[in-house]
Amino acid sequence: MKKFGGTSVADIERIQAVARRIKRAVDGGDEVAVVVSAMAGVTNRLVGYANAISPLHDPREYDVVVAAGEQITAGLMAMALQQLGVPARSWLAWQIRFRTDDAHGKARISGIDEADLNAAFAAGEVPVVAGFQGITDGNRITTLGRGGSDTTAVALAAALRADRCDIYTDVDGVYTTDPHIVAKARKLATITFEEMLEMASVGAKVLQTRAVELAMKYGVRLQVLSSFDDSPGTFVVGEEEVVEHELVSGVTYSRDEAKISLLQVADRPGVAAGIFGPLAEASINVDMIVQNISPAGDTTDLTFTVSEADLERAVDVIQRNREQIGFGEIRSDPGVVKVSVIGVGMRSHAGIASQMFRALAERGINIQVITTSEIKVSVLIDEAYTELAVRALHTAYGLDAR
Ligand code: ADP
Ligand code: ASP
Ligand code: MG
Repeated sequence: MKKFGGTSVADIERIQAVARRIKRAVDGGDEVAVVVSAMAGVTNRLVGYANAISPLHDPREYDVVVAAGEQITAGLMAMALQQLGVPARSWLAWQIRFRTDDAHGKARISGIDEADLNAAFAAGEVPVVAGFQGITDGNRITTLGRGGSDTTAVALAAALRADRCDIYTDVDGVYTTDPHIVAKARKLATITFEEMLEMASVGAKVLQTRAVELAMKYGVRLQVLSSFDDSPGTFVVGEEEVVEHELVSGVTYSRDEAKISLLQVADRPGVAAGIFGPLAEASINVDMIVQNISPAGDTTDLTFTVSEADLERAVDVIQRNREQIGFGEIRSDPGVVKVSVIGVGMRSHAGIASQMFRALAERGINIQVITTSEIKVSVLIDEAYTELAVRALHTAYGLDAR
């Protein structure tokens, strides 16, 4: 299984270069299935169109719009392969009955019918599958969330029992942090599923979280590598396969965060449920949460984060439940970023979090919210300090390339 992301298929020349790469594998005797993303920038443009109609658009129609980018690439890639004499055919989600639930915009896969793809192999054809899209039992189009074509690829690799799932992108592997913002980032030869899962879930968009989860569950051999050169990539592996263990393996950031604060909320049982219940019903994921007791003592201030894309809907849901929740004021702020450090070494070593807080304090960066898990510490800070914070932490944990 080979998956090519947006920058790898950004224009016709790139699509042709990828087609040549696929042909080399086919000529070498490999049975190859291909998953493609939309050309770089296309999905963002489509999202922009939907938001321009209304930020509170119907999520079912959002999916119809944003799923379109992958259809174009799938067709173009099949054509480019045919031009090289490689028999190829495009496949959209509905044509291979790539079933999902109906959580539009972030649907989860419920089943795949691999029969048609197996028939394509038997006929000596390379199937080129449009990533990111799915179809509900009611035959409506869905999408798997931003970055979701990684998940399409891993799910198909599992269903087809592929030897490997290669995720081709614009960097040649998984780094200790985003190599586009820290020049001293180091490439990792291997990373554990668990670390990759945490890294992805806190913003390292090199792999979609769901893709890592599925690879772990089905034992898919997953590799991240470049479509621009032939350097060795990064394998995502079980803990027993890791060669060098570091305390901290990576630093990540996510700009896709927005903060909502509710001031003067009545301090009584059931309030949190009153706020987060309606948000959950609207399929809005809440990430970090902090609650403070106000000076008066009878009310509390509550701050939480949602993804930036959900901000307007979240505020709308809360406003509509204002009576029932009871609060003084609502404030929202999209100008925040979540910075996290990840490492399995945290299980056995104390002091990693305090080291993080010290490094940020030394740069005068104020921490607004903190959350931790067994192998991760995350902080919410002002978006303006993103690069400064990531670089400072990368250095503080001794991750800089020498
Ligand atoms: P694609 O379009 O190929 O799916 P993405 O933009 O989704 O590519 O993911 C690749 C990008 O992920 C890289 O260009 C890089 O900027 C970013 N990235 C963030 N964190 C990391 C990391 N730790 N290692 C490698 N890349 C990372
Ligand atoms: N094209 C989709 C996106 O930009 C899916 C993907 O790239 O994986 O989110
Ligand atoms: Mg991606």
